[in-house]
Amino acid sequence: MTDTLTNLILLGPPGAGKGTQARMLVERFGLLQLSTGDLLREAVANGTAAGRTAKGIMEQGGLVPDDVVLQVLKDRLSSGNLGSGVIFDGFPRTLGQAEALDAVLAEMGMKLDRAIALEVDDAAMVDRIAGRYTCAHCGEGYHDTSKQPATVGKCDVCGGTDFKRRADDNAETVRARLETYHAETAPLTEFYARRGLLSSIDAMQPIETVAGRLAEILERESA
Ligand code: ADP
Ligand code: AMP
Repeated sequence: MTDTLTNLILLGPPGAGKGTQARMLVERFGLLQLSTGDLLREAVANGTAAGRTAKGIMEQGGLVPDDVVLQVLKDRLSSGNLGSGVIFDGFPRTLGQAEALDAVLAEMGMKLDRAIALEVDDAAMVDRIAGRYTCAHCGEGYHDTSKQPATVGKCDVCGGTDFKRRADDNAETVRARLETYHAETAPLTEFYARRGLLSSIDAMQPIETVAGRLAEILERESA
């Protein structure tokens, strides 16, 4: 039964567009977006044990320990409807997490179908992250220059008028996050390429162009 699900990973540094594209895939294909960054921010806001461990590390742009991330991920996976499959956004970020993901999916009778690398230039990522903000009500993502609401100050999706910026989206932390990405996460593209699961997209292109390429890959996968 679960064989019909399409499970995919979006790989790429902070600011590559993983969250933006994941939301569009949810809308178009009925997939579930699972962002470990969002889950950890929720844990921090709720003051859980995982949140207390994660808080300082996230503020510094480091990686939260694998066991903590895995626990919040498993809790979420076991708590609800997986839609027509799962988009892992911001996970895995280490080889250990990648291996653990295989085990978690196997336990649930599922498998990974594709890992899609969003390829971008580091230099552009600082601007993407510095300009990022979201609707405080529905979470829709925006950017100061590349993606503004049609009506200034009003969310296109829900009409909300409150917006927020992430505490870790500052120039200093972005550099630390990019360094962490290259040291710990970038090697995962090779890991998935060796298994024949990797697709790559030039994510310096406009949001809609990247979304079109992703849709092509997904349609091929579910054909
Ligand atoms: P990630 O989830 O990979 O950290 P986001 O999806 O939050 O990245 O995107 C970071 C910022 O860049 C957001 O403000 C988003 O609106 C903007 N953005 C995303 N994709 C593109 C793109 N292809 N071109 C220009 N800006 C983009
Ligand atoms: P993100 O929302 O994906 O940009 O993640 C924000 C922060 O949460 C990161 O800088 C890390 O500190 C932490 N984080 C998110 N996902 C993971 C993960 N899979 N492994 C370790 N830390 C993570």
